[in-house]
Amino acid sequence: MRPTTRSLAPIAALLAFAACATADGQAARAPEIGAWGVDLAEMDPRVSPGDDFYRHVNGRWLTSYVIPSDRTNYGSFSVLADRAEQQVFEIIEEAEAAGAPQGSSEQKIGDLYASFMDEAAVEAQGLAPLQDAFDDLAAVRTHADVLRFIARDDVASNGPVGAAVDVDFRNPDRYVLYLSHAGLGLPDRDYYLSDAERFVDVRAQYESHIAAMLTLAGVADAAAKASSIVALETRIAQAHWERARRRDREATYNLMTVEALAAYAPGLDWRLLLDEAGLAAVDEIVAREKDSFPTLARIFADTPVAVWRDYLTFHVLRAHAPYLPTAYAEENFKFFGRTLTGQPEERARWRRGVELVGQSVGFEVGKIYVDRHFPPEAKAEMEVLVDTLKAAFAARLETLDWMTEETRAEARAKLASFTTKIGYPDEWEDYSALEIVRDDLMGNVRRVNAWTWTDMIDKLDGPVDEHEWFMTPQTVNAYYSPNRNEIVFPAAILQAPFFDPYADDAVNYGGIGAVIGHEIGHGFDDQGRKSDGRGFLRDWWTASDEAAFEAKASALGGQYSSYEALPGHTLNAELTMGENIGDLGGVTMALEAYRMSLGGRPAPALDGYSGEQRFFLAWAQIWRRLYRDEELINRISTDTHSPSEFRTNGVVRNIDAWYEAFGVDPGNALYLEPGERVSIW
Ligand SMILES: [Zn+2]
Repeated sequence: MRPTTRSLAPIAALLAFAACATADGQAARAPEIGAWGVDLAEMDPRVSPGDDFYRHVNGRWLTSYVIPSDRTNYGSFSVLADRAEQQVFEIIEEAEAAGAPQGSSEQKIGDLYASFMDEAAVEAQGLAPLQDAFDDLAAVRTHADVLRFIARDDVASNGPVGAAVDVDFRNPDRYVLYLSHAGLGLPDRDYYLSDAERFVDVRAQYESHIAAMLTLAGVADAAAKASSIVALETRIAQAHWERARRRDREATYNLMTVEALAAYAPGLDWRLLLDEAGLAAVDEIVAREKDSFPTLARIFADTPVAVWRDYLTFHVLRAHAPYLPTAYAEENFKFFGRTLTGQPEERARWRRGVELVGQSVGFEVGKIYVDRHFPPEAKAEMEVLVDTLKAAFAARLETLDWMTEETRAEARAKLASFTTKIGYPDEWEDYSALEIVRDDLMGNVRRVNAWTWTDMIDKLDGPVDEHEWFMTPQTVNAYYSPNRNEIVFPAAILQAPFFDPYADDAVNYGGIGAVIGHEIGHGFDDQGRKSDGRGFLRDWWTASDEAAFEAKASALGGQYSSYEALPGHTLNAELTMGENIGDLGGVTMALEAYRMSLGGRPAPALDGYSGEQRFFLAWAQIWRRLYRDEELINRISTDTHSPSEFRTNGVVRNIDAWYEAFGVDPGNALYLEPGERVSIW
């Protein structure tokens, strides 16, 4: 039953739903992990918690576990992702065998998968399913032709700018078209511009890879063409903003008419590009990295059509390589998998098939997934948990000594306006316009490309869809959307070690509680704080509060920029600032919620661990993860999240209760003087 009042009862008492979730009807009364939710056998008691909390909790696992050869990293999230993959695979297999009518969910799911698994057909067809696109490319003679090709929605390629439709940051009642710089094949500008050995090496291998792909496709002079393509992408990379700056929501909000854009960035026919992309009705856009656009337009104009043709040939091959014969797929994996992320072996074909179905018709699968694996009670119970976290945050808000009443009132109003989505969408995505054909893989991929584009740009014609989700229910993740001021928790994350109804409360608060707190915290991080409760990008801060916030954020950034993930590779504190603030706020909020749930009663000790010790152990346990070095370097350049080790140690050392729980003193490596500890929310 759904409680009508905000409840702070222990989670285990609230969340009895899993009893009806077990497959065999037997209520599993024991937690999935350990006796109360933390796997003590994976800890390393030889490492002092105050010296390295992450390895104290995960040390045995970290030194004994071997990353599977088809993975770039592995940890708690991966275990759940594997489970979801297996469950989705079963759904797909049944759909495939069902012989469901054309156009039904099962038909789309089953036939898309079947078309991917028919390797013999893929081999036999070679490049033929893309031949019309290559013919069109061969006929490209002018820069206008180049734009027409870039704009097509059925064939994925690349180009100096990309487009996306999202809610208008300054008008949450409508959608707007955002234009971003684009055009690179490597993950970030650093890969083109940095002199670090790793990047120099990857660049050279990228050029060889481009030549190999072109050669496979029968293109003459492949080596010379690869060199021109890398030179072009390097020029584009020079125009790109540093990734951390792209997080700045004010700097990236530049509303302008298409006419003004054409005058501001001449050399690229913006009107033609939009018209060809089905956006003839658009007369206003948001230019994200605005001052890069004149440079990109100039690069577009002064690069010969022949070079654009080669560039587009490569990018079409690259985008569709997984659906082409083995020679293309393997060459593509060799570079983008093995070289770039260090993954030794490609994922098994069936796993890639499951992934394709998830990317293409993920909500069709999600509908069946939640029916089977997410009991209806879960949604209501999770709502209670979210309310508990909001109550804890509201209580803390009243006690913050650095904030004036004026700003506090706005923060309070924003917190009260959060919307929460749990498990799955109230209204499901409608795929009825998408045709999937059992023996036509590339046709399916191209129809999915076109459908996805049309589905996105059609949003411009209507009101904001409040039921929209950006992750499928079977995704092991969660997100916050600043321009909607909403937090979203897909069904698949509501499992151990994040959440287990039979685990100790402290463990659930340190797991899913801190995850909920993290997402709420994004509404108040360095960028999220710039929006109000409606999602409107609007400054609601007094100057003194803003200065106080900035000083705290900067102190936290100072800590993170000193962390070295690999020799010579320190974290980018500006890039990871929002996530670090989300983590710190999330754990602080969840601890407060845990204390409130105890209602003044002492928590019992379990295996000699106090309640608050167990809370912190759980936080460290969810971040257990191993990375390949190549993948870690990639993430430090591109990922807004800090590596797991620092999501653990970087947070706990700022929280007084952690020092008390584990007796951490000035002799410990993670020790910070009380005055150096950062507390924001
Ligand atoms: Zn986050």
